[in-house]
Amino acid sequence: MASAKEWLVNAIPGSLVRFFASPYVAGDSLEKALEKADALYRARNVETTLDVLGEMETDRERVRSAVDLYLRTLEAVRERDHCTISVKPGHFGYYVDPSFCKDNLEEMASACQEAGRGLTIDMENTDVTDFTLDVYCELKPKYPILGTVLQSRLHRTLDDVDRLGGLAAHVRVCIGIYKVPEPMATQSKRVMKENLLKITEKLFDGGHYVCIATHDIPTIEKAWERVRESGIPKDRYEFQMLLGVPREAMIRKLVEAGERVRLYIPYSVHWDDAIAYLRRRMLENPFMAGLVLKNLVRRA
Ligand code: FAD
Repeated sequence: MASAKEWLVNAIPGSLVRFFASPYVAGDSLEKALEKADALYRARNVETTLDVLGEMETDRERVRSAVDLYLRTLEAVRERDHCTISVKPGHFGYYVDPSFCKDNLEEMASACQEAGRGLTIDMENTDVTDFTLDVYCELKPKYPILGTVLQSRLHRTLDDVDRLGGLAAHVRVCIGIYKVPEPMATQSKRVMKENLLKITEKLFDGGHYVCIATHDIPTIEKAWERVRESGIPKDRYEFQMLLGVPREAMIRKLVEAGERVRLYIPYSVHWDDAIAYLRRRMLENPFMAGLVLKNLVRRA
């Protein structure tokens, strides 16, 4: 039976959810995502990573359709050096069968390697963390274009950096969108942000490439100050943010200083998928619904 929270989130009309989602989703076609990516690059020198919305897929056929759509996305960005691709194991069949998922990820990694386009395996909830890191560590030596994600809210993450030793990994460091209880994760936003900086430093020390993914201005400033103080070359890191989160001034400041900035651009082929995605996100992390609302109000 649905909980009261599920009932409430599902009762929000699709049109309203779509209204909330629209700043954060490039649209309902690959063409719209490409238009957005090209416009950002042309107008602001901002690069992008494209993501097809979908997760927790349990139907084998739908997973294969997602892989095909990703392969089409790759063909479209083959000549676009300003684009990379991001994918979720849950969308690539983890919940059908983990080995099926691994095969799909490898197929995509191999195609991206051949095209010379970056591919990041996003990090989902804690049931997939070990699988994601294991697959990453196994595939990375074969497909150097591969990247993955570490979440600073998890207590395990500083130790997980040790697993990447010697891989010259490409790692996005973020707080993590999934709400995870103790004893697995800190509940303190302050600690999550401090951890993000600690993980970043440890990754730099290990010789990895770091994508600093946060919208929190003080955290961006601190990370930026530390890379400059340590003399870390600009080709060892980038800043990443989500499409739709209003951070124009910060992005401009970074780009004008010659820093690489990349926006994460989700798109779907049906608004229904985008609406379902946002509903799940609201259920997982009601805080996110608050953030979305706050940003919309600020924009208005
Ligand atoms: P916060 O303190 O949460 O946010 C700072 C401010 O930014 C807020 O006050 C708000 O104004 C704004 N803001 C932040 N997030 C949003 C939002 N979603 N909508 C509207 N406004 C917002 N998480 C994962 O678990 N796995 C991933 O693979 C993953 N990939 C990501 C890729 C990128 C490029 C980015 C930027 C984030 C990614 N995340 C991922 C989400 C991330 O973990 C955080 O949940 C999210 O970025 C919010 O944390 P914050 O560091 O921005 O700090």
